[in-house]
Amino acid sequence: MVIPPARGGQWRIEVDRRVCAGTGLCLGTARGLMRLDTGRGRPVYDVIAPADAVADAAEVCPTQAITVRDAATGEVLAPLSR
Ligand code: SF4
Repeated sequence: MVIPPARGGQWRIEVDRRVCAGTGLCLGTARGLMRLDTGRGRPVYDVIAPADAVADAAEVCPTQAITVRDAATGEVLAPLSR
C-alpha cells in the first residue's frame, strides 16, 4: 500500500546514506515506502502518515541507517534500540 505524503507532517523518514549498505531489506519490509537510489536506501516520501512498516524497516535495517521521527517534534520513534 502506498501512503501519500502527509500535509503538515506526521512521521519523517531519514536515511543516512553514509551508513546504508544497500541491502534492499527495507524495500521488502516497507513496500512502496522505500526505494533504492544509486544503490542506497531512500524513502519514497520524506514525510508520511504513521506506518508500522516503516518503523519495522528501521528496526530491521542491519546498519541502523533509517531513523523515523515525529515530524513535528523530531522525537526518534524508531529504531527503539538507538
Ligand atoms: S535496509 Fe538499511 S542498509 Fe539496507 S538498503 Fe535499507 S537503509 Fe540501506
